[in-house]
Amino acid sequence: YESLSVGELANKLGREPSEIIKKLFMLGVMATINQELDKDAIELICADYEVEVEEEIRIDVTDLEIYFEDSEEVEAELTERPPVVTIMGHVDHGKTTLLDSIRDTKVTQGEAGGITQHIGAYQIEVEGKKITFLDTPGHAAFTTMRARGAKVTDITILVVAADDGVMPQTIEAINHAKAAEVPIIVAVNKMDKPSANPDRVMQELTEHGLLSEAWGGDTIFVPISALKGEGIDHLLEMVLLVSEVAELKASKNIRAKGTVIEAQLDRGRGSVATLLVQDGTLRVGDPIVVGTTFGKVRAMINDLGRRVKEAGPSTPVEITGLNEVPQAGDRFVVFEDEKTARQIGESRAGDALQEQRVEKTRVTLDNLFDQM
Ligand code: GDP
Ligand code: MG
Repeated sequence: YESLSVGELANKLGREPSEIIKKLFMLGVMATINQELDKDAIELICADYEVEVEEEIRIDVTDLEIYFEDSEEVEAELTERPPVVTIMGHVDHGKTTLLDSIRDTKVTQGEAGGITQHIGAYQIEVEGKKITFLDTPGHAAFTTMRARGAKVTDITILVVAADDGVMPQTIEAINHAKAAEVPIIVAVNKMDKPSANPDRVMQELTEHGLLSEAWGGDTIFVPISALKGEGIDHLLEMVLLVSEVAELKASKNIRAKGTVIEAQLDRGRGSVATLLVQDGTLRVGDPIVVGTTFGKVRAMINDLGRRVKEAGPSTPVEITGLNEVPQAGDRFVVFEDEKTARQIGESRAGDALQEQRVEKTRVTLDNLFDQM
């Protein structure tokens, strides 16, 4: 760093500014919190804390993005990729029932349902085309992912129970999808119920900017019964239609990048993470940086619990081989060699630790204000 203020340096070191000011005083420098320090002074302070000022470029924690959005695509061949779909809606309107119904009837490769692995996402095939469903609770997934700046969803299915109508979480879901600019397909559920009133659902949704095609708008409404499995085929056709319009593209030929769907520590296998490959192809043995951790992909299993050697765009896979457990919404990027992955992973872990310290100081200050 060529220059930093006392306050900024304190932040980076995770120390109180007053402590830095005191140290400077001991070194014979009178300083205030906003005072700019030159390179020599910074090095002196850092040496005192036994922190090395690294000459090499450090990568900021948020900056995995630069790898995420690099321009490799320019040379890479873009091909169609499956849509990634989330199901949202008010509690008890039938999200889980719908996810189960779709999975049971349409799991890929004619696999018998029932013993499918739960990895937080699954893929089905309709008319020879794949669709990926995230089955982490829609709202939670959306909020954590979006809070972390990750965009994973291409299409949202908004489930509204025809006997209950628009409810608070329905509106919340619409707002999430709109903010993320994700197209919405409305599934009017529980049509098997005698009290079902789909017109009321359509009416109420117009107030939230969703006007059905039947009424001259451009939102697709599909009446379904998730419980009885009725209307599901039509719903999935509509997903494919919206997906075609969106022209979702990715390249199979580049190093993989994507987002963590969920992750946990497994007693036997260590850090286990479900990754959604968003671009490129992920392979066993790939050196990888995930959030602030890194490693080498040791083993991969797909949504059917099968070991696989590679995973292309829009494919969810569970991997092992990471040093630590990443967080949902963390980005991942594959690097050309282990050394680079390690370097960037370690640098990011260091930065994250510093940020945590800074966070702690902030929390302390907040607490202080709360007490006042
Ligand atoms: P979620 O909270 O949105 O995940 O809702 P669930 O899928 O858990 O469904 C809540 C309740 O509604 C359960 O008792 C389901 O059996 C029932 N349910 C879901 N879909 C339908 C449907 O199409 N028709 C009827 N009659 N009941 C449904
Ligand atoms: Mg549920």
